[in-house]
Amino acid sequence: MKKILGFLGIGLIVIIAIVFVKTITNTPGAHQKSMPLEAFPTNAIAHMSQAIQIQTETPNDDYQFDTATFLTYRKFLETSYPLIHKNLPRTIIDSFNYIYEWKGTDTSILPMVLMAHYDVVPVEASAVKLWHAVPYGGEVKEGYIWGRGVLDDKSSMIGILEATEAQLAKGFQPKQTILLCFGADEESSGNGATAVVKYFKTLHKRFDIVVDEGGEISTEEMKDVKRPIASIGVGEKGYVTLILTAQKAGGHSSIPANSTAIDILSKGLYNLRENKMPAKLIPPIKAYLERVSGYTDNFWKKMTLSNMWLFERQVINSLSEEPTSNALVRTTIVPTIFNSGVRDNVIPTFATAYVNSRILPGETQQDVYNFVEKSMNDTNIKITYYHNYSTLPSPTTDVNSKAFKRVEQAINAVVEDVIVAPMLMVGATDSRNYREISDGVINFTPMTNAKGYHGIDERLLISDFQKCINFYTLLIQGSK
Ligand SMILES: [Zn+2]
Repeated sequence: MKKILGFLGIGLIVIIAIVFVKTITNTPGAHQKSMPLEAFPTNAIAHMSQAIQIQTETPNDDYQFDTATFLTYRKFLETSYPLIHKNLPRTIIDSFNYIYEWKGTDTSILPMVLMAHYDVVPVEASAVKLWHAVPYGGEVKEGYIWGRGVLDDKSSMIGILEATEAQLAKGFQPKQTILLCFGADEESSGNGATAVVKYFKTLHKRFDIVVDEGGEISTEEMKDVKRPIASIGVGEKGYVTLILTAQKAGGHSSIPANSTAIDILSKGLYNLRENKMPAKLIPPIKAYLERVSGYTDNFWKKMTLSNMWLFERQVINSLSEEPTSNALVRTTIVPTIFNSGVRDNVIPTFATAYVNSRILPGETQQDVYNFVEKSMNDTNIKITYYHNYSTLPSPTTDVNSKAFKRVEQAINAVVEDVIVAPMLMVGATDSRNYREISDGVINFTPMTNAKGYHGIDERLLISDFQKCINFYTLLIQGSK
């Protein structure tokens, strides 16, 4: 007995020693200097401002484009970027999606795609008075360019075009072919990008690297980390909606039965919400935590993150507490529509609810279905798939891939002392389609703590715009 206690004691001391050593040796990386930013190309800010003033609101559900406006935008591109339009052949897919091809000297290298979308979400009429600038004014003031779409996603599009035009003016010739792909309906159906990828598939194209909007830089995400964190999107969650229906003969509300359709469905939903799909650390999230762990000044956090071999469960539990981080460790399921009843004195026969799920890589729509069925545990509730839109989670881009490393290098060059870490995208972008034809899809634009997406006061720091152009310039120069 004494011997066993002795072994246990030694074992415990060894574990404590490993935890301690791993914690204190996990120190921040050395100071990393960025490169001096290149000056703005002439007219870059004016072009950004003009782009905002053309109200390319995303087509509505019937896929009706405001043709005149989208043609005005095309004209604006043609006059603002003469070298691109002279030298890079343009293919138009489904009216307003553009592909520009900058042919490289070595066609044996798979091309690079720089992509963005230029449709914007509408400005809520009732919210216009809350803006501190005219929503479609393209005003330049207080160090920002203001207006709907300046972040999402015209900054990327204009950034790519400015970088390309400037390199063409300098006579730069890429070795790797570069494709510039711009979508016109990302904010609604995303059909454009689907059609573009379908077109690429007919040509049997595959791409080395695809860079699209998504991840950004934050100094607010982790308060205990004093360096900016660049989160690079390397994969997207899947999406599915289920329709739940309870049916039970209704009747007069003066003589109610013990259980009604509303009761059955409410109870089922309650049971569903009391359960959660299992949480796990998928590789990109684990890599994210490992990369930031050396920089936190919270000792306990540093200890757990530096020793995930021992504390993985604790880390997962703490991530589960906040909605934003919870969405990164599990498939989420939440009711979004609940319908029943027609009059206050009639017990309805049907109650219907829609539950929306965002699926973690490694899981499927069927897993969600099975979990919902098991959690509600009531055969009186019928479950069907809502077939408007549904996608599987995407494969994830490896942090050791050439694509990730190339973007990482470009970020390090434009942002000082930045921690570059992979991240999972919880919303969908146009690039999800490209994952079928590339293992190197990356979601990132170098903006820091950007504010106003889809809301009021959408604005872009002028210095971020400059970083944006520099970032794309470096990616282009990397094709040599
Ligand atoms: Zn967007």
